Amino acid sequence: MTLNEKQMQNEELNKEFLRRSGVDVSKCYQCGKCSAGCPVGDHMDIPTNKVMRLAQMGLIEDAMKSSAIWLCASCSTCTTRCPKGVDVAAVMETLRIMAKEHGYVAEKNVDKFHSVWMGIVGSMGRMYEPGLIVGRNVSTGKLFQDTSYGVPYIAKQKLKLVPYKCKNMDEIKSLISKAEAMDREERGNK
Ligand code: SF4
Ligand code: SF4
Repeated sequence: MTLNEKQMQNEELNKEFLRRSGVDVSKCYQCGKCSAGCPVGDHMDIPTNKVMRLAQMGLIEDAMKSSAIWLCASCSTCTTRCPKGVDVAAVMETLRIMAKEHGYVAEKNVDKFHSVWMGIVGSMGRMYEPGLIVGRNVSTGKLFQDTSYGVPYIAKQKLKLVPYKCKNMDEIKSLISKAEAMDREERGNK
């Protein structure tokens, strides 16, 4: 790819990012409060404010390649703490969605976890934790990961082994269908 083509690709990605996130990243003045309050910041390859800086500079491809966006727990602490009212969590979420669509998934196991999670909520309307553990372990090939934590939880009846569905599954399925339709429309507007 020539330098010119690379610049055009960056510009397209930046336009897509700004449109889809709806966040004015230019407001960020790099105070670092988002990074300081992030509960998973110690595990990220780059801190949240650096992700913001990459987004500000239009370096969306670099931001999409980071593992930080996959470790983000979507807790919104960063958004709440930002003195400039920047929705940092929305930036992380948009980058994650775009990274998946553009083939830059730095943390494949986290992506698999998300898929299992959505599959369970989509079919049962709520979380079924044993199913999540089994689904995550099977999809990542780490069959016995974290299984030792299950025993005390089961002993204290914190984990329900028998799954149950939400009563109004039609309503939940309709919500998911609407979200999927909005997503398709969003992609169509690229
Ligand atoms: S808290 Fe807000 S202004 Fe400060 S670095 Fe993070 S996004 Fe930028
Ligand atoms: S939303 Fe993500 S980046 Fe923001 S504080 Fe929570 S985990 Fe950290």
